[in-house]
Amino acid sequence: MIEYDILVIGAGASGLMFASQIKNKRVALVDTNAKIGQKIKISGGAKCNITNENVSENNYLGDKEFIKNSLDFFSNKDLLTFLNKNGVYPKVNPKIVKGTYFCNASSDVIDMFNKLTSHTKKILNTKVLDVDYDKEFIVKTEKGIIKAKKLVVASGGLSYTTVGASSLAFDLAKKFGHTIIPTKPALVGFTVQKEQFWFKNLSGISCDVEIKVENKKFNGKLLFAHKGCSGPAVLNASLYWQKGKLTIDFLPKKRLDSLLKGNKNISTALPLPKRFMQEFLESIDLKDKAVSSLSKEEKEKLNILKEYDFSPAGTFGFSKAEVTSGGIDTSEVDKNSFESKFQKNLFFIGECLNATGELGGYNFQLYFSQASLCASRF
Ligand SMILES: Cc1cc2nc3c(=O)[nH]c(=O)nc-3n(C[C@H](O)[C@H](O)[C@H](O)COP(=O)(O)OP(=O)(O)OC[C@H]3O[C@@H](n4cnc5c(N)ncnc54)[C@H](O)[C@@H]3O)c2cc1C
Repeated sequence: MIEYDILVIGAGASGLMFASQIKNKRVALVDTNAKIGQKIKISGGAKCNITNENVSENNYLGDKEFIKNSLDFFSNKDLLTFLNKNGVYPKVNPKIVKGTYFCNASSDVIDMFNKLTSHTKKILNTKVLDVDYDKEFIVKTEKGIIKAKKLVVASGGLSYTTVGASSLAFDLAKKFGHTIIPTKPALVGFTVQKEQFWFKNLSGISCDVEIKVENKKFNGKLLFAHKGCSGPAVLNASLYWQKGKLTIDFLPKKRLDSLLKGNKNISTALPLPKRFMQEFLESIDLKDKAVSSLSKEEKEKLNILKEYDFSPAGTFGFSKAEVTSGGIDTSEVDKNSFESKFQKNLFFIGECLNATGELGGYNFQLYFSQASLCASRF
């Protein structure tokens, strides 16, 4: 049986970046999937939103100092330089979220990693089931045992089991004594309660909104869906949402009193999709009529458009969530080496850690930064 110096569980974003930077050691990557980088492949609508012009620890949920430490070591500029050097040229495309860098195609990133890890043994189509430690790591897979001196767990979170996600990182972390901060689907749409069932009648319609959640504000599209609502502003809000209310401004940067002038009907006077206005007016029991005929009370009722309080029923769940928030408590992992504070030679990187980014390339950026910092310590 070959014994590896380093076994990396997960040939995804962080595992590939890590392996690409380790030379002169017997390194193997093991993954459930038949091909590497399957989440990278479907990311950003198959164009991989790889980083952002503006990245700071404030774009993340988790321990700010832990996050900043990785971003300082390998910044968005460092990532772009690395990609360019390896023939990948992402460009800014601010259509969905400000400052986002998209690649021509996600396959460019996968091709790059295939080249950069050509020296690494790939054990694909192989699901890891469990790990034991007895002077070395004994990794049990569906196809037998793999032994390694050092183990890097880069097997991600719980989102999108269709591309190989599993609870392995959390199960192993617990086994070796780590605390798991409760996991939640994040960057995901919201399901609605009875009061918002009218959202479902608007499936396919979108509008520009500002959403306030906790102490954060997100501007962008809200997309009505047959289960509730989605779209960039909603996905971002889901990261910070804690089972309470959030507030939607359906007329961001506009004053309602200056719009409610003249003889037009409400649904025409307000710059919102007509079908939305019809459903909204019905939900607040107000007829669509000339704005000039509105009473003071009726105008006040319309103010709800600027401050629509909404308590989601829940989210669309892990099967639709782009990421998993929560995860392995970062205070139990060395912030420079990512080594477990409880088990020597055991490392955790990527989405399995309790550090999750907003929509806009922030997750790839952080997990590439962590992988680079971790690799620099080997
Ligand atoms: C639809 C979608 C779109 C996204 N778009 C973007 C985007 O544009 N920009 C962005 O920044 N982020 C995006 N993300 C999030 C981003 O893809 C993840 O945060 C990132 O890939 C996490 O990196 P990771 O290395 O931790 O895990 P992953 O990249 O998920 O890799 C983990 C790997 O571990 C393997 N694995 C899991 N369990 C086992 C096991 N038991 N045995 C063996 N192998 C195992 C998996 O098969 C997988 O290949 C998107 C996510 C989704 C689902």
